[in-house]
Amino acid sequence: MECTRCCKIMDKEKFSFKNNKHKIYYMYCDNCREKVQNMTNKRDNEKRQYEFVKKTNTIVCQCGKQFVSFRDYHVLRHNSTKSHLNFLQRSKKHV
Ligand SMILES: [Zn+2]
Ligand SMILES: [Zn+2]
Repeated sequence: MECTRCCKIMDKEKFSFKNNKHKIYYMYCDNCREKVQNMTNKRDNEKRQYEFVKKTNTIVCQCGKQFVSFRDYHVLRHNSTKSHLNFLQRSKKHV
């Protein structure tokens, strides 16, 4: 049987059944399936990590807007948004 990922021809015992009853094999060998599985887990972890960082870096500005700031330029970018500038305009009038 040939693995559709690494394109090696191997014994059937290197493959697992996707469906035991119908004797359908996975198209990937066990080796490749494990690799793909690990990659998926890594992606999930990175995503979770990102969600966590996002949560801990959320800033609430004086203008009332919430935004995520990993870096300084996020703040700078927010400072030039319309809603923030409007807020500055409004607060200037009150002074
Ligand atoms: Zn393979
Ligand atoms: Zn603001």
